[in-house]
Amino acid sequence: HMPLFQLAREVMERIEAYGGEAYIVGGCVRDLILQHEVGDIDIATSLVPEEVMEVFDKVIPVGVEHGTVIVRHRSHSFEVTTYRIEEDYRNYRHPERVYFVSSIEKDLSRRDFTMNAIAMSGSGDIIDPFNGREAIREKRITTVGKAEDRFEEDPLRMMRALRFSAQLNFSIDEEVYSVINEKKGLLEHLSVERIAEEFIKLMTSYSYLEGWRNLKLTGVYHYFPIFRNRPFLIDARPATRLTDWGELISFYHLQARDTDVKEWITSWKLSNRIRKKAEKLIEAFHLFEENETINYAMYQLGEDYLHSFRNLTSSLGIDLSFDPRDTYDNLPVHARNDLALKTSELMDVFPERKKGKWIGEYLHAMEESVVQGTCRNQKHELIEWVKEWDQQNRN
Ligand code: ATP
Ligand code: MG
Repeated sequence: HMPLFQLAREVMERIEAYGGEAYIVGGCVRDLILQHEVGDIDIATSLVPEEVMEVFDKVIPVGVEHGTVIVRHRSHSFEVTTYRIEEDYRNYRHPERVYFVSSIEKDLSRRDFTMNAIAMSGSGDIIDPFNGREAIREKRITTVGKAEDRFEEDPLRMMRALRFSAQLNFSIDEEVYSVINEKKGLLEHLSVERIAEEFIKLMTSYSYLEGWRNLKLTGVYHYFPIFRNRPFLIDARPATRLTDWGELISFYHLQARDTDVKEWITSWKLSNRIRKKAEKLIEAFHLFEENETINYAMYQLGEDYLHSFRNLTSSLGIDLSFDPRDTYDNLPVHARNDLALKTSELMDVFPERKKGKWIGEYLHAMEESVVQGTCRNQKHELIEWVKEWDQQNRN
């Protein structure tokens, strides 16, 4: 990731040449110190958005009123934000106002945890007024300032503490932890989307078990949709790491069969894409449970979800006796279109019948039979098979 930092340095140099200050800040500095892979690079600057827009040709004004613009530099994006503090958190949601401030130290003081409140200049100078580096070295999560105040300002920080602890395998300072215990009721005020974002990050972390344990011990999960009504759900602990919402919903549905997918989607405000995935995984799991239909289960599941099916079953503690990918690859057909008997040819087999919904049913029966190996995917065999099937079905 050296090149990315080199590009960020070029951005910072341009700002400095204009007379401004610039530092990389937040998660990327933390990850750099940890020698983790760095995703995005955020830059803090003394310049106001209007000035940043003058410095660079390609700028996307994503949140000018909050001081943020995206600078495009050699096909990379950098979030450049004016030094600011946030005040007047009303209803525990978004700050009523942000104020631009003149020093990086002030900007760092509004940040959530000391490990996230470190700045680094283009030449490598570090500004670390809250001893974030020491916290990182000791793998500790602690707030900038009093936990009580900072969590009252923005209760999401409690969720972030739990999430970071799972992601980084850091421990939360005892006093911060006890404030979470005390103040968790404030999570009531947050939008479900913000909680959802942290919850899924926590559950898909490598140290998700640590995260899960903390959700349980603090009782924070009482403020989550679904879990609120079914607190026993938290006892369902994935045996291996899940990697997305689709897998997570399927896991809980199969572990404790009284949660349905639609309820997850509505109450956590998730997308239709996630709903579709969870439904596919659950359907495939039921077919798999019926044992003799493993081929058909993989066929129905489709190529995109094979890997998730493996993740799901291992989270349920099941050792598969087959490889989903191999099984899928060895299927005689992968879609209805691959059948050797086409729709028009099927109609020729039953010339007395009009077009209708029987066609879909017959194609479906042929698919299942070919996939399960009771009929080969050859035209004349399919014709014989479908005639016989028709006889049996009419009686
Ligand atoms: P990651 O991107 O890996 O989730 P991150 O630390 O970059 O971790 P972001 O949500 O991208 O987290 O936020 C960037 C920085 O902004 C944080 O490092 C922190 O300094 C600050 N920050 C983000 N959310 C909050 C918050 N709710 N309260 C205070 N500071 C915050
Ligand atoms: Mg980030």
